[in-house]
Amino acid sequence: MEDHVDAELFDKVVTLCKVRGFVFATAEIYGGFRSTYDYGPLGVLMLRNVKQAWWRSMVQLRDDVVGLDAAILSPPAVWEASGHLSNFTDPMVDCRSCKERWRADSIGDTCPNCGSHDLTEARAFNLMFKTTAGPVDDEGHVAYLRPETAQGMFTNFANVVRTSRKKPPFGIAQIGKAFRNEITPGNFIFRTREFEVMELEYFVPPADAPTWFEYWLEQRFGWHTDLGIPESHLRKRVHETDELSHYSARTADIEFRYPWGWGELEGVANRSDFDLLAHSRASGEALEYFDQAAGERYTPYVIEPALGATRSMMAFLLAAYAEDEVGGERRTVLRLDWRLAPFTVAVLPLSKKPELEATSQEVLGLLQPSYMCDYDVTQSIGKRYRRQDEIGTPWCVTVDFDTLEDRAVTVRDRDTTEQVRVPIDALLTELVSRTAGP
Ligand code: ATP
Repeated sequence: MEDHVDAELFDKVVTLCKVRGFVFATAEIYGGFRSTYDYGPLGVLMLRNVKQAWWRSMVQLRDDVVGLDAAILSPPAVWEASGHLSNFTDPMVDCRSCKERWRADSIGDTCPNCGSHDLTEARAFNLMFKTTAGPVDDEGHVAYLRPETAQGMFTNFANVVRTSRKKPPFGIAQIGKAFRNEITPGNFIFRTREFEVMELEYFVPPADAPTWFEYWLEQRFGWHTDLGIPESHLRKRVHETDELSHYSARTADIEFRYPWGWGELEGVANRSDFDLLAHSRASGEALEYFDQAAGERYTPYVIEPALGATRSMMAFLLAAYAEDEVGGERRTVLRLDWRLAPFTVAVLPLSKKPELEATSQEVLGLLQPSYMCDYDVTQSIGKRYRRQDEIGTPWCVTVDFDTLEDRAVTVRDRDTTEQVRVPIDALLTELVSRTAGP
C-alpha cells in the first residue's frame, strides 16, 4: 500500500483529544513545554485500558511471565554496562543558517526549517536524561532516568529466577515511564521525551531464540488486530543490519500507517545474551541459568517486544476515528474496542426531572462496580448520544418515564445505534454477554 498523508485526520484526532479531555499540553497556561503532554480525565482512563489490555495478554493469561516494577532512577554503572552511555545516541546536525538542530538520519542534506544545505557534520548526541541523586551536585552523585525499562529486568534477573522459580523459556514484563532526550520530538504523542513503555524480556535457551522471535512477532501483531486495528494499517519490517541497536542481533518493527505515512509502532528485538553478559561482567554476579536436567549452565538469550503505551493509544485513536451519518445527522464516532474505551457505559436519564434521578442513580450504582461509567444529564438525549459516540462509549443506558412503570431501560449500541429494552434486573447479564470474550 502507498504511503499517504492524511493531515486532516491527524488534526481532527488531536483536536478531539484536546477538546474532550484526552490529552493536554503540559503547562499549557505557560505556553506548553517542549512536546510534553498530560493525560486528562478521558486520556487517563484510555491509557490505563491500553496498559491493562497489554498486561492481561502478557502476564495474566500466561503462566510463563511474571511482572516487575523497577525504579526510574538508576546509577551510571547500569548504563555503563548496558552500553547506553556510549551507544544510546542519535546523530545530530546543526543548520549553520538558521541554527536549528536536527536528527541527521531523518532530514537528509536539507534543513527542513529554512531549506539550507549548510549543515554541520553529524555528531553523536546521547539521549539519556542525567540528574543528581542527593544534595551534592557532582559526578559522584550522577543518576540517569531510564530510557527503557528493560535494564530493570536484567539487573533483577537472578532475584526473579530465585523468587519465582521460573525457568527458560520465561519472561519478565514491565510497564512504566521512560525518558529520552529526543532531538526532534513531535507528531503529538507519537514521539515525546517522557513516555510510557510496555516491555517484555523473554529469556530462552540460545538455540531457541530464532523460533521465539518469530513467535513473539506474531503474538504482538495479533494483539493490535485483536483490539481493533485493521490489518491494512499494520505491517512488519525487518531492520537492516546497519540500523540495528547496539544490543540487537535481529529486530523487526510492527509499523502502523500513521496519517503521515508508515512508522514504528512496536519493536521486537533479539537482544541475544548481550545484556545479561554485560551486567554479569560488570557486576561480578553470575546472571546465568543452571539447567539441572541437562547439568548445564548457560546465559539465556532474550527476545524483547517493546511498545510505547502512549504511542499505542495514539494508534488506537487514529484507527478508531470515523465520521458517519445517523438518522440524517452527521456524527463523529470513535469505534474503539470496548476494552479500550474510556467509559464502557454511560447512564443517561432522559430528562433532568427529579423523578428519574433516583432510578438513574440506582442503575449507575448497579453498574459502577463492574464497569467504568459516565453519568450525564445535561442537554437533549440526542446530543448526549453524540457526545458519547465521540468519546467511544460503546453502550448508553437510558432511563425514561416508562422505566418508572416497567423497571426496564434502553440500551443503545454505539456502532449500530440499535436500541433494545432490557429489564434493570437483567442489565448486568446483558452487558456481561456483550463484553464476553471469544
Ligand atoms: P525510533 O527509532 O522511532 O526513535 P526506537 O527504535 O528507538 O524508536 P525502541 O527503542 O524500539 O524505539 O522503543 C520501543 C518502543 O517504545 C517503540 O516501538 C515505541 O512504541 C516506543 N517509543 C520509543 N521512543 C518513544 C518516544 N520518544 N515517544 C513515545 N514512544 C516511544
